[in-house]
Amino acid sequence: MEKERGILFVLSGPSGVGKGTVCKALREQKLDIQYSVSATTRQPREGERHGVEYFFKTKEEFLSMIENKELLEWAEYVGNYYGTPIEYVNRTLDEGKDVILEIEVQGALQVKNIFPEGVFIFLTPPSLDELRSRIVGRGTETEDLINNRMSVAKEEIELMKHYDYSVVNDEIDSACNRIKAIITTEHCRVDRV
Ligand code: 5GP
Repeated sequence: MEKERGILFVLSGPSGVGKGTVCKALREQKLDIQYSVSATTRQPREGERHGVEYFFKTKEEFLSMIENKELLEWAEYVGNYYGTPIEYVNRTLDEGKDVILEIEVQGALQVKNIFPEGVFIFLTPPSLDELRSRIVGRGTETEDLINNRMSVAKEEIELMKHYDYSVVNDEIDSACNRIKAIITTEHCRVDRV
């Protein structure tokens, strides 16, 4: 019997909402799901490793990935490029394994056009004030960048209507539990079995 294709889960939402933290917490729970590593032109932050958090690329390398159609989606975000290598996603889904992408909203909407059968989860902050203090608390951004990220975030929250699920990131464990419940629910859908 042919093996079922895996399910593509897309975890998205405004920057600073805690997508990275939630994804890291999910990873630690050793779920039966694979995590895609994105390519980016931004500089590595302290402790980030090539091939683990991101594939760090020059602008020229990134543009040639776009040209060679190596990316499932890509977006320019606050002055840097970010994109999902397509080969890993397709190969892993073909092997019958689930894949999770942690990406910003524009990229998620592109994925929705290509993989309408994907499961789109929007992570929301408890409030905009809380979002700003999380971005400020990260301590890696200048005031201009923080304002820029906040205005992008407000526009992005408007796009939540295109998603299948909304999860409030009020507390990491609760957010992870809700995402795990979504994963389980999707595996129980009659139209998938
Ligand atoms: P950061 O610079 O804080 O690591 O990421 C900035 C934003 O880029 C976050 O919202 C993150 O989810 C998003 N991002 C990371 N990888 C990708 C990707 O492959 N594609 C897109 N569209 N966004 C990404």
